[in-house]
Amino acid sequence: MLFPAPAAFREIDTDPVSVENGFLRVPARVFEDLAFAAFRDVSHLLRADHLRALRGVFDDPRSSANERFAALQFLKNANIAAGMVLPLCQDTGTAIVLGEKGHLVLTDGEESAAIERGIKKAYTTLNLRYSQNAPTSFFTEKNTGDNLPAQIDLTAAKGNTYRFLMIAKGGGSANKTYLFQQTRALLNKPALISFLLEKIREIGTAACPPYHLAVVVGGTSAEANLKAVKLASAKALDAMPATESGFRDTDLENELLPLINANGLGAQFGGSHFCLDVRVIRLSRHGASLPVGIGVSCVADRNILAQITPDGAFLEQLETDPVQYLPDIRDNALNGAGTRIDLNRPISETLADLDKLKVGDRVSLNGTLIVARDIAHARFKEMLERGEELPDYLKRFPVYYAGPAKTPAGMPSGSFGPTTAGRMDSYVDLLQKHGASLIMLAKGNRSDAVTNACRDNGGFYLGTLGGAAAQTAAEHITECRCLAFPELGMEAVWRITVKDFPAFVLTDNKGNDFFKRILKK
Ligand code: SF4
Repeated sequence: MLFPAPAAFREIDTDPVSVENGFLRVPARVFEDLAFAAFRDVSHLLRADHLRALRGVFDDPRSSANERFAALQFLKNANIAAGMVLPLCQDTGTAIVLGEKGHLVLTDGEESAAIERGIKKAYTTLNLRYSQNAPTSFFTEKNTGDNLPAQIDLTAAKGNTYRFLMIAKGGGSANKTYLFQQTRALLNKPALISFLLEKIREIGTAACPPYHLAVVVGGTSAEANLKAVKLASAKALDAMPATESGFRDTDLENELLPLINANGLGAQFGGSHFCLDVRVIRLSRHGASLPVGIGVSCVADRNILAQITPDGAFLEQLETDPVQYLPDIRDNALNGAGTRIDLNRPISETLADLDKLKVGDRVSLNGTLIVARDIAHARFKEMLERGEELPDYLKRFPVYYAGPAKTPAGMPSGSFGPTTAGRMDSYVDLLQKHGASLIMLAKGNRSDAVTNACRDNGGFYLGTLGGAAAQTAAEHITECRCLAFPELGMEAVWRITVKDFPAFVLTDNKGNDFFKRILKK
């Protein structure tokens, strides 16, 4: 299903390939170098079309002020990341490689291992993050320390070309992949559109919109459906020819996009650019099954094509000069910097400042944040279950749900951005009742449990932009040090100092939830 792409390619520097008796022979080293170069490029560079679309959000007079602000930050982020030091996002993803080997291509049969070596080299030698946890027993895990394993799926095709799609897939984005086993009853336009609008609205903002959305209806199996979702979200099915097995429906794409974007969620904090585009694929199906798959590629749209041909090894050319998409404008010409919040005072005073604001208001954070995410929260809960006191830092400062990428030499921190807040929802009431987590900072919408906990315990949830991690590291973090659980790697507890760090009040102490307010039914 990897079709010849209309993309521009650049040749990479690696061992030569050769043609023998009509067969293309590819040495293992080529796969290793190609995978390394792909995960290096895709961690720092974006497609020109994606950058153009972000600039379009900024320029669109219908965009909300928050969307214009977000689009500007994403474009700044792209420019900082293009310096090849700080990656686009702190979640540098699971490495996914989908390959199709032409029947006239000869290898030593070890290309999976060679691709893995290239991936390992990229994650261990660049400023990327190790996000993979291996089980040490059924209920315990340890970080693998090299971001392996990768997902490598190789299949066969006709011809003398080896084609690849390589994806650095962040956890938040991957989590918003859905399969719905439906029936023939959904195969009428009004029913399908109404179903899709409801399910797409439920994706929410936790996977960092604006999204490239993919919808696949049909497929010979659940797995085939979801594979097509992944390919379509990366634009790898754009050149798919219409056959008896399926087709791309651009009319339905054009009809769906404005309907989806009318949901009010916008590019993270309200507006009309929840999705930049939509791909709709219709596949054949078993008469008893109607799999419907939905998935997104987030604002860190890290997909790259590669191919090995008789002429050499080639990578899709991503945009190395994103400055051309950056508008000439200063932040405060948008909607001001927001209310300045000094985080180094007693937390009661910070809470009193936030009490004067309403949901949707922008703030500028200055001072200390405690960074803790999934495993650290599980440990805090275990402390309470053992009858121990929670660490004082959790009561004195706001908690930021995040996990940084590696720190480049000479910088205070690596790329640093919020993780999906919803995964910490079950801890909030418990921690707040013990005087901790009274101010939380992360991304995405949260459950009623958090709204109720904040109302009952006097807490606040603030949202900050997901997908601008290089910019956050370069412009807003002045200090970062590990405070506890260093063995957890990026999931350790960190203490960071921020300056002029933008955020929005999303849940307040009065039971108000920003996303509920803006969501249009
Ligand atoms: S931009 Fe958001 S969803 Fe995408 S990888 Fe980064 S944190 Fe995850």
